[in-house]
Amino acid sequence: MRRMLRSLALLSATTILLLVSCAMEGVPEAREGDLAAADDPTLRPRQRMVTDQIVARGVTHPALIEALHKVPRHRFVPPSQSSHAYEDRPLPIGLDQTISQPYIVAYMTQALDPGPRDKVLEIGTGSGYQAAVLAEIVREVYSIEIVPELARQAGRTLAELGYENVHVREGDGYRGWPEEAPFDGIIVTAAPRTIPKPLIDQLAMNGRLVIPVGDWYQELVVITRTPEGLVERRTIPVRFVPMTGEVTRDPSMP
Ligand code: SAH
Repeated sequence: MRRMLRSLALLSATTILLLVSCAMEGVPEAREGDLAAADDPTLRPRQRMVTDQIVARGVTHPALIEALHKVPRHRFVPPSQSSHAYEDRPLPIGLDQTISQPYIVAYMTQALDPGPRDKVLEIGTGSGYQAAVLAEIVREVYSIEIVPELARQAGRTLAELGYENVHVREGDGYRGWPEEAPFDGIIVTAAPRTIPKPLIDQLAMNGRLVIPVGDWYQELVVITRTPEGLVERRTIPVRFVPMTGEVTRDPSMP
């Protein structure tokens, strides 16, 4: 009996030792994390943005979540706004334009369903943030911005951050980028009242077009080119700046 008790005591001592050593192993890792956070004060706000605003609301695409952790959103807003870069809202980027709320960027990107071999077109480069998120996930990103100063600034920011697979062009995105078509995905981040036909024509087979459509009431529409034809899906209500240029003179407009 006494021997049994002694071996039991020995066993529990071993267990305690094992538990302690496991806990100890965890310590250096936690310290490394703290050091990284101390080096980069934007790491924690970015992690919180992804967890609380995006994953908590149901976004699951793994490569997208990884991209959102990586892209330094504060570099895409004017210096006066950088302390707000990780907040749950859109922000002004100058010239009457905005960078979308992080959740909307994530929702639209997930709806686009991007893959590593995809070639994607974006209409409305704005700050370049959405283009950078896509560049982390897909092969090539082509992006068109109608306001020259924004196109230049976004091009500069993307080059500084080393995004070599993003090609920014200044111009009206209404006619897409025919020289580079077809695209596996097309994402429009300004709202027209009707969907520009040239964009639908530039969708590859199984390609997806994600576009906010409407005037004061806008809905995010997803169009997929399938072997049986185009399939349209209406998703959430959204609020984007209006798409300007040729689309406002579109004869098919109501
Ligand atoms: N995707 C951007 C947010 C864009 S805001 C980001 O991540 O920051 C919408 C942008 O669409 C604005 O910069 C606006 O100038 C641009 N835009 C509006 N109409 C356009 C058109 N016809 N062609 C290209 N860009 C357009």
